[in-house]
Amino acid sequence: MTKTGPYALSMWRPWGLLTVTDRLTIPKNPENRVNLHVGWRGDVYLHSGKRWDPVGAEAAEACGLSLVDDDVPTGYIGIATLVDVHKDDGDKPCGCNRVWAEPGVWHWVWENVRPFRTVVDLPGRQGLFRPDPTVVARTPELLAV
Ligand SMILES: [Zn+2]
Repeated sequence: MTKTGPYALSMWRPWGLLTVTDRLTIPKNPENRVNLHVGWRGDVYLHSGKRWDPVGAEAAEACGLSLVDDDVPTGYIGIATLVDVHKDDGDKPCGCNRVWAEPGVWHWVWENVRPFRTVVDLPGRQGLFRPDPTVVARTPELLAV
């Protein structure tokens, strides 16, 4: 893997949306990954994949946000800065909020989460991948307020 970004990460729905929304009583952070860990840090394009995970909808409900499968988009939905990746050992507190952090897995910690104004419905991939160049080119417009 080269050392310069940006990269992109796809998440099952609704986990990606939960990462970029400001409508949860407790923000969704970190991202839990069983096997995926990287030394690289920087901006990551967040991608909402096709697959629906009902566990994510239940977690959202517990934090005040009701979601329906058909209302949660697929595609590129925003950018966040990956500032830390650490393995949770399940015993010692790692500093992450236990509402979202799963024990015994890798925690990807985000800062500076910036949702796109519109979703760009292009396919994602598994693992950390290069974002579609058209999305990268449109970034200033997609982030404009
Ligand atoms: Zn943690």
